[in-house]
Parts: sequence; C-alpha cells; structure tokens
Amino acid sequence: MTPVSLRLVSALALAIGLCASGGASGAASGGASGASAQTAARPPVEQSQSQGRAKNVILFLADAGGVASVHAASVMAYGEPLRLHIQQWPNLGLSETSPVDAFVSDSANGMSAIVTGVKTHNGVISQGPDGERGRRDGTPTQTVLEYAEQHGLLTGVVTDRPITDATPAATYAHSNDRGKWGEIFPQAFSPRFGDGVDVLIGSGRTEIAEQMAANGVSYDSLARAHDRPIYATLEAAPAANRRPVVVAEEIDVRAATLRALDLLQAGDKGYLLVVEWDAHTDDPREGLQNIADLDRLIAEVQSRVDLDDTLMIFTADHSFGLQVDGGRRGQPLLEGYEAWKARDGDERVVRLENVMVNRTHTAEEVPALAIGVGAERVRGYFPNTHLFEVMMKAFGWTPSSGD
Ligand SMILES: [Zn+2]
Repeated sequence: MTPVSLRLVSALALAIGLCASGGASGAASGGASGASAQTAARPPVEQSQSQGRAKNVILFLADAGGVASVHAASVMAYGEPLRLHIQQWPNLGLSETSPVDAFVSDSANGMSAIVTGVKTHNGVISQGPDGERGRRDGTPTQTVLEYAEQHGLLTGVVTDRPITDATPAATYAHSNDRGKWGEIFPQAFSPRFGDGVDVLIGSGRTEIAEQMAANGVSYDSLARAHDRPIYATLEAAPAANRRPVVVAEEIDVRAATLRALDLLQAGDKGYLLVVEWDAHTDDPREGLQNIADLDRLIAEVQSRVDLDDTLMIFTADHSFGLQVDGGRRGQPLLEGYEAWKARDGDERVVRLENVMVNRTHTAEEVPALAIGVGAERVRGYFPNTHLFEVMMKAFGWTPSSGD
C-alpha cells in the first residue's frame, strides 16, 4: 500500500475507535464533531508507515491504565476528552489481558504476556503456564528484551515502581513468584542473553535490600561480584557510566527516561527501552496525574526519535475499576476528591461526585496505541501476546531464531 492509502486506513481505524468509545452518550455525531474539533485544534501527528524494520522500539506501560482511565486523565488534565498526545496516534487496538486460568490479570501475567508472547498464571514472572506460583518453576519464556540483548542491541528499563516489581521484572527476570524480590533483582546481573539490561532505573531500594539480605546478598556484594556499581540516586550515577543501575527510594521518571534515552541512542545497533509508570487509581488523582505525566513524557520522547526507524507503543498490563459517570464541562472532574482524601480509609469503592473507583483490577481490554515503524500491526481486538509479535516483527526477528 502507498503511504497515502495506509494513512487513510489508519484514519478509518481511528474513526471506528472514536465511534465505539462514543456509545454511552449516544451521540455518534457528537463523537465525530468532537474529533473534527480536535483535528482543527491540533494538527494530526505526522505518521510514519515504513514497511521496513525498526532499529529501536520503545514500550510505554501505564500500569493499570485502562480505556476509562486514559479518558479520565485527559478530562482531568485538559478539561476535555481526546486531548492526550497518545490519543493523536494513528494506530489503535484493544489488547486482551487475561491469564491462562482466569479473566482478571495481575501485572506479572499481564507484562509477561506482552514481553514474551506467552500468557501464564497471575503472580508468575516470564515463565510458561507449566509453572505454579510459588511452588514450581515453569519454562522460562524469552523476553523481547532478551532477544534484543541476544541481537546485540542496547536495552533499558525505567520505572517509578520498585525495579523488582512484577512489571519491570517481567522484562529481565524469570520467577515462579512475583514476590521473590531477593532472587529477581540479582538476575539482572546474571543475564541469559548478551550482557543483560544496560540501563536499569527504578525504586524500592530499602525493601529490595531487605529481601536480598535474607538470601545473604547485598547491593555491595552484588556490585563487587559483577564489577557494576548500584547507585542510590540517578544523580549519583556518573555520566561516564554508560550502563548505570540505579535503585533509589524514589524515581523522577522523566529524568530517568531522558537519561536512558540518551545512553541508548548512543549505540549504533539500536535499542529497546521499556518505561513503566504506575496508573492504579486507588487514589484517583495520583493515578490519573501519572497517566497525564506519562503522556507528556511520551510526547517529549517522540520529539527526540526518528519515527522512520523507531516504533513507539503505549499500553497497559491490565485495566482497573475506574468509571466516569458524571461531570460537566468547565467543572473539575474530581469534584469531592479533597474531602474523600481527608477521610480516605480502606474502603473498596471510592465514590466521588463524577467518578467511581472500584479499587481492583478489571478484565476488559486495554488500549494499545502505536506510531512509527510497524505500528500498523496494532489494530483491532487482540490478545496482549500480539504486542510481543508486533515488537519482534518490527525488529524483523522470528522467536527462537537466535539471529
Ligand atoms: Zn499492573
């Protein structure tokens, strides 16, 4: 297909997506006029639909960032739907997240499926469904990051969460239980392919140290054994270190991502970068703000890459029980938040004026958005394992081919 016809197909796919999401208010025409107003307000992002290979892939993971939360983040941050940068991307699919034996996913199964192409059980980190959580190892499933290492690319993982948390862990580790931080973190230093993750930045410093101590391991012993310092802050990692490992108490995701991007872009064979930002809306303002902040970061990263050789993907590992069921234009979406926050207990359901949050993971499909080389493969409903294939095909790799 010519670039023009591809662009038309994408526009059509986007239009279908808009109609589908416009259902509740009943106004297909409302959805359409909203879209054209949006188009008028902001020119569509220039789209690259090269049929070639991607040199680089960047995967942005909003943990628990379902369709409803992405919508709510736009309304909270900009007062209108469809104002996020990622909502201007041309390719959209709905990614199904279930584990092999249930309908609702946790982060372990959700991310494992995305990065390995194999669905498993909740709680299991990048092992096949032949494993049993906490009891028996399953077959390790090779992650797209391990394929990248095998092919000599640079790799990076950045998260606001503990670097051993299920989502980042699924990229570089294999474990029958997501809770085994003491055995997950050291795996970053004993990679199965290549020289392991090149840039690893996350939080959880104290808790990870405690869990490693139970196994007789410390940051110092690990760093000495592998001749690789483990810094306590991003600022402590010198610019001269091209493969920094940072395990901090808290992470500035923007600063960490831009640092990682600089380091990865210095290589000539290409890179894989995975960025996670927590979007659980147990605290609705925090979760939605994180989505809005991640979205701004994505726009910034996009301005620093060449979409003719790079694929960018945004998705979530599973959805979450947030719903917008009220509100008016010109009024704050999170009316009543401050009062709720002042008396926040451990209630299962948060009831604000316009927003209700059933504080649990939910089963429905999550958005998958893409732009750049190979982005056209992100369309329609698909199991989340498809995103592994999208990344592998973009790189031009066949699973288990070894080269
Ligand atoms: Zn999650």
